[in-house]
Amino acid sequence: MFNVILFGPPGSGKGTQSEKLIAKYGLKHLSTGDLLRSEISGQTALGLEAKKFMDKGQLVPDEVVIGMISSAIDHNDKITGFLFDGFPRTAAQAEALDKLLDLKNASIAIMLALDVSEEELVKRLMKRGETSGRSDDTNESVIRARIDEYHAKTTSVADYYHQFDKVKMIKGEGSIDDIFLALCQEIDTRL
Ligand code: AMP
Repeated sequence: MFNVILFGPPGSGKGTQSEKLIAKYGLKHLSTGDLLRSEISGQTALGLEAKKFMDKGQLVPDEVVIGMISSAIDHNDKITGFLFDGFPRTAAQAEALDKLLDLKNASIAIMLALDVSEEELVKRLMKRGETSGRSDDTNESVIRARIDEYHAKTTSVADYYHQFDKVKMIKGEGSIDDIFLALCQEIDTRL
C-alpha cells in the first residue's frame, strides 16, 4: 500500500487537491471532516457529539476520530493505498495511525503539507462559506478558532513525521494545477 497524508490548515486546498490526487493515483480518500459531516447528516450519536466541537471550531476528541479511521481502514482491504485528508490532526492521532497501518504491514510514505498565509485562508473560507453549506465556514470567529486550533495542536503532527523525514512543504498559493503538479512531483519521487 502507498499511503499519503495531505496536510495543511483549513482552507489550504486539501479537498480540491485530494480529488485530483485520488483520480491520478487511484488512492482511497479518507477525510475525517467528510466522515464526521456524514455522521451529522445521519444524526447518529457520534455525529451529534462531534457537532458540538465542530460548531465551535474545536477538534473532535481523538478517540472518536481514531475509531472512525480504524473502521474505515478495516473496511478497505485490497486497495492501492489511502489518501488521508484532515487526519491526523494531533500527535496522538499520528501515533495511532502508524499502529493501525502497522497491523496491515503498511506505513505512511509521505506527508505533503500545504502552506498558505492566514489572511488568504480566512478569505478563502469566507468565500467557500457562501456556497459550501458548512456553518463552520460562515462565521469569521469560528474560522479563526479553527486556524488557532491548527497552530495549537495540529502543527505538532508535522514534527512527528519530520523525525522520519517524511514531510514535504508545498506552497499552497497559486494556480490549482501548479500546486497539483508540485504535489505529484513529490509523490513520484517516493512511488
Ligand atoms: P475539515 O473538513 O477537515 O476542515 O474538518 C472540519 C471539522 O471537523 C474540524 O474543524 C474539526 O472540528 C473536525 N475534525 C475533522 N478532522 C478531525 C480530526 N482528525 N481530529 C479532530 N477533529 C477533526
